[in-house]
Parts: sequence; structure tokens; C-alpha cells
Amino acid sequence: MKNAMKKNNARTILIKNGTIATLGEKNRVLSGHALLIEGGLIKKIAPQKSFRGKYTKVIDASGKLVMPGFINAHMHFYSTFARGLGKAAPSRSFVEILDNLWWRLDKKLTNADSYYSAVIPLIDAVRKGTTTIIDHHASPFSITGSLSAVEKAVRETGLRACLCYEVSDRDGKERAKEGLDENTAFIANAAAKDDGMVKAMFGLHASFTVSDETLEEAAYRGHKLGAGFHVHTAESQADQLHCESHHKVRVVERLRDFGILGRKSIAAHCVHVNPKEVEILAETGTAVVHNPQSNANNSVGIADVTGMTEKGVLVGLGTDAMTVNMMEEVRCGLWLQHLKRDPSQGFMEMANALLVNNAKIANRYFKGVGELKEGCAADLAVIDYLPPTPMDASNFAGHLIFGVSQSSVDTTICAGKVLMEGKKLKLDIDEAEVSRKSAELAKKLWSRF
Ligand SMILES: [Zn+2]
Repeated sequence: MKNAMKKNNARTILIKNGTIATLGEKNRVLSGHALLIEGGLIKKIAPQKSFRGKYTKVIDASGKLVMPGFINAHMHFYSTFARGLGKAAPSRSFVEILDNLWWRLDKKLTNADSYYSAVIPLIDAVRKGTTTIIDHHASPFSITGSLSAVEKAVRETGLRACLCYEVSDRDGKERAKEGLDENTAFIANAAAKDDGMVKAMFGLHASFTVSDETLEEAAYRGHKLGAGFHVHTAESQADQLHCESHHKVRVVERLRDFGILGRKSIAAHCVHVNPKEVEILAETGTAVVHNPQSNANNSVGIADVTGMTEKGVLVGLGTDAMTVNMMEEVRCGLWLQHLKRDPSQGFMEMANALLVNNAKIANRYFKGVGELKEGCAADLAVIDYLPPTPMDASNFAGHLIFGVSQSSVDTTICAGKVLMEGKKLKLDIDEAEVSRKSAELAKKLWSRF
């Protein structure tokens, strides 16, 4: 193991002849430059002629864009087995969708199912240049060890992930307690490993399925561990109606009152929040993660990304398992902001959610992701792209949304490891075999559905 580590540290990869979009504070678009990776980090970005050494590997990125790997700030790996299920009754509301599909499916998941349903989207993430994923897991009748099963998949694919288990009282007190224990154990485990690849948060389903008692216990444990919380927040109006009738406060107020909000916490969705709640999210530094495709699919509404951003809320972008392709998600998010307000609104807010804010959110758990800079993580996507119009840092977002997003990812590198090159996976995983096994397990799960 130590020898393997040494070998990796000594490994150098030079990426040359590409156009480099650094993002980050300096936010430069560079041509005539090369990028050197050593030991999982970016060692140097400089004019190409200054690289004259010998390198373990040289990647020719001619005709390609080199940029930081994408970050998905809200995901559910476990939803993989719903693909093609077709057994759920038609649902007319968000709550019916949960009842008819998700809360039937997740109850049937075993730890083996959780592992395979994570491997599949992780492989797809490599193909789409997504290198960091913040996931929210549920398998209420196979909770203990489920996060380790997901972790195994993450480590095998070589991506970075921040994991949590969604605690809920929807299946009774015992399930809630087991969820609390799974988060507690996994957070401690991830902290002990502290290897920069797998991190943990304290997961909670949503206000409307978590009792005061459970919320209090989660807050107590989470704070003791120094962990942030990851919770669905006002995703549909039903969450607010429940909170107002049962607790006489709004959802964001309730979460604040229990100490769930803060700089390390993620409030996913926030479609139905009022101005006072937006103020609380801004004041507490809580990250909001917007999931436009999921919100449209569930017909819950369109979050006011533009308005929340104006009020100082850090709004990032997730996919809620609709895809792992962040370039697809950001486009949809933009169209929906136009639909919600007018076509002059939301462009920079959506572009920044993906290109700036997701890095800020991820760097609350990881180190140096979302930016190409010396000393930062060597997490990169190399994408086929010959700009047909002038491209620089000032209009990069326009190129990304309208052009780069329509191109293919050629090479994906995470922590200095080449996971895909020339559109060919370089993983120690047999994709066909994993898919075959996944389909076999999905078939069994469907028969229990
Ligand atoms: Zn979600």
C-alpha cells in the first residue's frame, strides 16, 4: 500500500495543447499553457514552453477544453433501480410520488442493492466529467452498513463523495434511531480516515417526516461530531403546510430553532420559502442546493434562485438523481429561471451556482476542488471544444451553457488519477459485469416492490 502511494506521488501527468479554464478567484481562460499534475494535486500551470522535464504521462488536449471536474451538490445514488420500473401508480402530487414510488422502493433496498445502485451513476459521472458528488442515501430496512456499501462504490470508481443517511420517523422510532446511529458511526469513520476522498454529513429526510425528538437528537450528535446537516427543505408546499399545522412555524424556522442550519449544512430545494426564511438562510450561511430538473419533474415549482442570490444566500446546483450531467442540469435551471421571471434574469445566477458556488459548498468538506490552481486538487474534465467565437473568462459561462455542454467529455481525472481517457473508461471495474449484476438485483427488487 505504501509503495503504491509512493508510486502515485511520484507520478506526473502533463496536459498540453488544450485551452485551460481555471475558474476560481483568478478565473482565467488560458491558451498556450500546460498543466502539470503530481501526487493528486496540480503542481504547476504555466506557458507550455516552460515544461521541459520528463513526465510519467503526457495528455495531448488539442482541440479540447481543460476545466475543473464538475460538482453535484445534491444526489441520490439509490434511485438507480427505479429506472424502467413502471410499477408505481400515477401520482398527482409530490407526496403521492413519495408514497407510490420512492418510499416503496427505498424500503426494499439491501446493502448489496445500495452498492450497485451507487456504482452505476458513479461510472456515469466519470463519463460526464463530474468528479465530486454530495449524496443523500435512504434504505430504511437496511440501514446499518449502507453508507459503507456506498463508500465502497465511491472508492472503486475513484471519485470524491460526501455521504449521509436520511434520518426519518416515517417508518417508526426504531428506524429513526438506526438512521441516527448510521450517520454517527459513518461520520466518525470518515473523520478517522480523513483521506480527502470520502466525507460525511448528518442526513435528515425533511421536516415533515422528522419528529422534534429525532431532530433534537440529530442536532446533539451532529454538533458533537462537528458535522453539517443535509436536509430536504420546503421542496413542496406540503412540507410547509405540515410544519405550520404541527409546529406553528415555517420549515426554515424550525430547522434553525433546532440548530440544523449553518455554514456546513445544506438545505436542498427551498422551492417554497418566504422572504423571512430566505433571510435566515443567508444569515446562517446555510447552502441552498437547487435541483431544477427534479422540481420540474415532480411539479413542485421553480425555486427563486435569482431572488435568493440577491439576498445573499449561497445557492448551488444538484441533480436530485435526475442525471449526473451537470451541464444538462444548468441548462434546464436557466430555462426555468427565464420561465419564472423573464429571459433577462438568472443567467449569471445559474452559471455561478454550478461554476462558483458548488465549489464553495464542496470546499466546506473537501480541499481545493472546483478550481485549477497550483496546490489544488487534480480533479479535471477535458472536453472536446473548439470555440467558434471568441472565448475568455468574461463569456466562458455562455460558451459552457450553449456550446461546451453539447460536446463530449474526453478525459476525466480525479485526485490525479485518470478515470477516463479518450472516452474510454480506465477503471478497475468491469462495466458490463456491474450492469449485468445491477439488472439482476433490480429485477429481484422489482419483484418485491
Ligand atoms: Zn433529494
